[in-house]
Amino acid sequence: MKEIVLAKYGEIALKGLNKSRFESLLVKNLKRRLGDLGQFRYTRAQSIIYIEPLDDGIDMNDVVARVSKTFGIASICRSAELPKNFEGIVAEGIPYLDEQLSFAKTFKVTARRSDKKFPMKSPEICMELGYEILRRYPHLTVDVKNPDVEVIIEIRETNAYIHAGTIAGAGGMPVGSSGQAMLLLSGGIDSPVAGYMMAKRGIHISAIHYVSPPYTSDRARMKVERLCSKISAYCGDIRFFCVPFTEIQEKIKDECPEELFTIIMRRIMMEIAQRISVQNNCNALILGESVGQVASQTMEAIVCTDAVAKMPVFRPVIGMDKSEIVEIARKIDTFDISIEPYEDCCTVFTPKHPKTSPVLSEVEEAQSRFDFEPLIAEAVNNTEMRIFKTEFQSC
Ligand code: ATP
Ligand code: MG
Repeated sequence: MKEIVLAKYGEIALKGLNKSRFESLLVKNLKRRLGDLGQFRYTRAQSIIYIEPLDDGIDMNDVVARVSKTFGIASICRSAELPKNFEGIVAEGIPYLDEQLSFAKTFKVTARRSDKKFPMKSPEICMELGYEILRRYPHLTVDVKNPDVEVIIEIRETNAYIHAGTIAGAGGMPVGSSGQAMLLLSGGIDSPVAGYMMAKRGIHISAIHYVSPPYTSDRARMKVERLCSKISAYCGDIRFFCVPFTEIQEKIKDECPEELFTIIMRRIMMEIAQRISVQNNCNALILGESVGQVASQTMEAIVCTDAVAKMPVFRPVIGMDKSEIVEIARKIDTFDISIEPYEDCCTVFTPKHPKTSPVLSEVEEAQSRFDFEPLIAEAVNNTEMRIFKTEFQSC
């Protein structure tokens, strides 16, 4: 008996004429993610991708865990592939679900017959299979409304498949279907979540991080790199850009009014991020800001930072409470890393009383008192890039 994974699409199914482009991308993403586990055959039919292992000994738990982190897939069924005759379904299908049936008290059978040539109709399959299950597991009773186990039998073109329920997929759109954007990734809780959320909408993200040694340590940088690896399980391969930011921060401290330090720093971060974005085909910036959370995230502060942006700036967590962001951070397993107490460059030289309602013209005037351009150009030139390949440490 062979096990197979049925990955069912979500939104792609609604895509009309473009559907096949999205499907091909999804299959490509799956191949990339499962490649090191062994050989698989991928078959597309009726908004489902059948992922069939071709090698012995492939760990199907691992396959399911990886598929469940692949954007574009709404649900997953881990199934037994069965011969397309009723005797075969009974002989191989019922033992396959032995564990679930042994522990349940109630069950029901649902049959889906997409091959209309199969000699039994769906209600008949349900009745006969239910009867055979009851014969083998006399402790069970049928409950069609709220069963402990729903045995689903699908009769398809070449085979029948049996499984006991559906696992939720990651949802969203296949990564790469919505272009590329640059995530400003700090070591905090919010920005990894922001990157995850945009990748879920099909954006292939790159990440940029600013470091200020010796004020920020190697461990702080390594923490961000670990966050990058973590989110790669969902986001795919990530180009990681690390910007040396010390000199710029020191100059802002020396040359600009203290209360505007943070806002000017953010404006320069945006400027650098968009230059590196243009060089690397990223067409938008992604930030982990939530309105009102801290002084630099008031409406007025956002107006001042966005004034330097020449490309769209996405802030997917802008309207979320911290607790809602934390919930996602826990789900994607970044929370424990994010709360490690290493300093970020944003906490270097933080003013005692940052201006919460900065006025754009005043900020521009303060920033123009010093020519930051050579330092910005130098920081861009000295930015290092490395690639984080998709990793599945937590599977
Ligand atoms: P986070 O939890 O993402 O750090 P935060 O609530 O701590 O966010 P800030 O420190 O004000 O907020 O940062 C706001 C946003 O600016 C971050 O979400 C991130 O997108 C970006 N950012 C901050 N520091 C850095 C950094 N050192 N490198 C790259 N981006 C940064
Ligand atoms: Mg932060």
